[in-house]
Amino acid sequence: MTNIHYNPDDRKYVINPAFNLIRTNPDTIVINLGSRSPTSRQLTDSGRHGILADLLESWAAPVTLDQGRRLVNADDDVINELVKFLVQEEVPIPVPEMESHAFLYAMGLESGRIKVSSIGVVGTGTLCTPITRHLLDAGVGKIWLCSDGVPATEDERVVRAGTDPHESSALDQVASETDLVLCSTDTPDLEMLFRINSVMIQSGKPWIPAVMDGAEIQVGPILGTDSGPCYNCLDAQDEAGRTQLLPFLAHKAAVFAKAGFIKRPLPQVVSDMVAAWATLSALHIVAGLSSFLSDYRVRIDLDRFEVTRERILCLPRCPACRTGVADYRHPFL
Ligand SMILES: [Zn+2]
Repeated sequence: MTNIHYNPDDRKYVINPAFNLIRTNPDTIVINLGSRSPTSRQLTDSGRHGILADLLESWAAPVTLDQGRRLVNADDDVINELVKFLVQEEVPIPVPEMESHAFLYAMGLESGRIKVSSIGVVGTGTLCTPITRHLLDAGVGKIWLCSDGVPATEDERVVRAGTDPHESSALDQVASETDLVLCSTDTPDLEMLFRINSVMIQSGKPWIPAVMDGAEIQVGPILGTDSGPCYNCLDAQDEAGRTQLLPFLAHKAAVFAKAGFIKRPLPQVVSDMVAAWATLSALHIVAGLSSFLSDYRVRIDLDRFEVTRERILCLPRCPACRTGVADYRHPFL
C-alpha cells in the first residue's frame, strides 16, 4: 500500500503556525490556540504505535504529504491512517492556505467551504466597503453587492447586482444567488431593513443585520432561519418594546433629509469593528459551525465600552414570519 495519495494535488503542507504544539508523549500531542480556545485539544493515537508526534513533526517545514510520511519508519497502513487523521484535524495545512488563513483554520473555519461560498452584501452608508474587503481577505468565493457606497474593484469575485438596497428586484437577485446576506447601515434604515426582511423570508435564506445606532454597534442575530426570528420579531423586542421606528422617523424628518439620505462617514476604527464582527459571523455560518449570533444579538456600546449579547426570540405569531398560526388576541403572542 505505498504511494497512496490522500489528496489529488501535490501541494506542500506545513504545521499550522497559529497553534502551539506540546508533545506530551510519542502518541499524544496537545494543540493549543490560546488558553480558552475551544479548538485547543489533544490528539492521541489510540493504537499507540509510538509515531504520531514524530510524524507530525515531518511537516515542521513545508513538504508534500508523501514526502512527509517517508520521514517516519513504520507500517504503511499505519502511517496512511495517521496522516489522514492529522490532515482531517487540519494541523498540517496546505501552504497556500496557510499564508493568510492559518488563524481561521485554527479556529475551525475550514477554507474549503468558505472558498465556495457566496455571500450578499447589501446596505446604505459606508459599512459595505469594509465588510466586502474583510470577506475578500478571508477567501470568500463570491460576493454579490447591492450598495451605493462600495468603490469599483478589479476583483472578479465581486458581482454588482445593484446600487439601491431599497429596490426589491436587486435584493431578490442577491438573495437567490447567495447562501447568506449581510445587511449593513450607518443609521437605522428601517425602510431597507424591513424590505430585505420580506425578501429574505421569501427566499428562505439567512441574513444578518449590522447596524450602527448612534454610538452603538448592533450585529445579529441570524435572521430568516426556520426556527429563528425575523427582523420584525427583533424590532418588536428591541429594548422590550423600544422599536427603532421613532429614531428612524426622526432621521427622516431631520433638516439633512431634504438633501437626501443622511450620510455620516464613520471613522475606520468604528467601521472596521462592525465589519469584523459581521464577517466573522458570516464565516462561522458558511463554514457550517454554530454561530455566536444564533438567536443572539451582539451590542457594542462605544460610549461606555460595553459589550452585551442578548437573546432574541422568534415571536410565535409574528405577522411577518409566522403566518398561518391560529389567531389570538395579542397579535404577536
Ligand atoms: Zn418574525
